[in-house]
Amino acid sequence: MLTSKVDYIIIGQGLAGTWLAYELEQQGMSFVIINQDKEETSSKKAAGIYNPITGRKMVKTWRADQLFQSLENDYRRIENLTGEKFLHPIPIYRPFKLIEDQNDWEGKISDNNYKTFIKEMRSSSLGYDDVSDSLGGIIINCSGYVDIPKFLDSMMNYFKNKGVYHSEVFDYQRMEITDDSVSYKDHLARKVIFCEGSLSKNPFWNLPFKPVRGELIDIACDLKSDCIINQGVFMIPKGDRFTVGSTYDHNVLSYEPQEAGIKSLEERLKKLYSGKYQILNKRAGVRPATHDRKPYIGFHHRYKTLGIFNGFGTKGVSLTPHFAKHFVDVLQAKCEIDKEVNVQRVI
Ligand SMILES: Cc1cc2nc3c(=O)[nH]c(=O)nc-3n(C[C@H](O)[C@H](O)[C@H](O)COP(=O)(O)OP(=O)(O)OC[C@H]3O[C@@H](n4cnc5c(N)ncnc54)[C@H](O)[C@@H]3O)c2cc1C
Repeated sequence: MLTSKVDYIIIGQGLAGTWLAYELEQQGMSFVIINQDKEETSSKKAAGIYNPITGRKMVKTWRADQLFQSLENDYRRIENLTGEKFLHPIPIYRPFKLIEDQNDWEGKISDNNYKTFIKEMRSSSLGYDDVSDSLGGIIINCSGYVDIPKFLDSMMNYFKNKGVYHSEVFDYQRMEITDDSVSYKDHLARKVIFCEGSLSKNPFWNLPFKPVRGELIDIACDLKSDCIINQGVFMIPKGDRFTVGSTYDHNVLSYEPQEAGIKSLEERLKKLYSGKYQILNKRAGVRPATHDRKPYIGFHHRYKTLGIFNGFGTKGVSLTPHFAKHFVDVLQAKCEIDKEVNVQRVI
């Protein structure tokens, strides 16, 4: 017997499912979340950094102006809702590696395009003990990190209190799909939206994911810093420790930290920081990256009642709040799906 009639069934409560559920609620729609509550998820292993200036060439990240405008306020809204604190706005210090980088930024610093995102450019060392930054660097604004496990836990409790969270593995075979609804066990919904992250075994979507494993370590050391330091590796200050990351490997897609990954991380760490440190723990995760580094959002080519919200790759923290709002607008027929993220491009 059907007992629950909802607008949407959301599968997965990582960053993607959480933001989508929150935005559905904001726009007055009903939903249930079905999530396998486990530690081996991308969101639970992530460093949680948001950074508008990235890459070897230090350029604005894709859609930075759009994404970063309301990003911190979006996370603050959830802090206010749950009474928990997980947003840590903090500048990112990116030391210059080459004199050419310094010259390049002397030109860029007065560029209006970059003004919002640059706090300061330095042409000499910031003076952190044992940090290699003799050429100075740029200090980035509108950046920081989110304690994602805490964010997810507080939202899981919020959804549990509303009675809309179910801790279980979704069984694809038990869906009954029609042209205008999907039933699953005792739920009847207009659509099911899959937010399952990487390595999903979903038989309905055969998409060109390009998952990428990454290692992180937590270290104890004497360094004191009020910035995330980022050159070759990032070092996030977290009280008595730093989180250091990250590696990128497409071959071994495992949640077990690999020796080669940890070795490469340490080699790069030693180039940035020459002080003594002690490794406190190691972890690895797999990012749900895509062939063109853009998310997969939209509807199944055959079953219009099945949707997907996935493929947030290395930038889940900054992409999911913006695109959750966008997808909910699409679901409400307020706009068409942004072509660059529409899953139809790969079907
Ligand atoms: C090492 C590492 C470092 C990273 N660092 C950063 C960073 O600094 N900044 C940043 O923005 N991003 C970072 N990321 C990327 C970020 O973590 C991802 O973009 C994001 O977490 C993806 O979220 P998701 O919700 O799509 O997937 P996930 O977090 O994997 O969540 C999917 C959820 O769906 C559930 N699920 C799957 N299948 C089923 C099913 N059949 N039934 C029920 N439940 C199911 C899973 O249990 C899980 O809870 C990092 C990732 C890694 C691995």
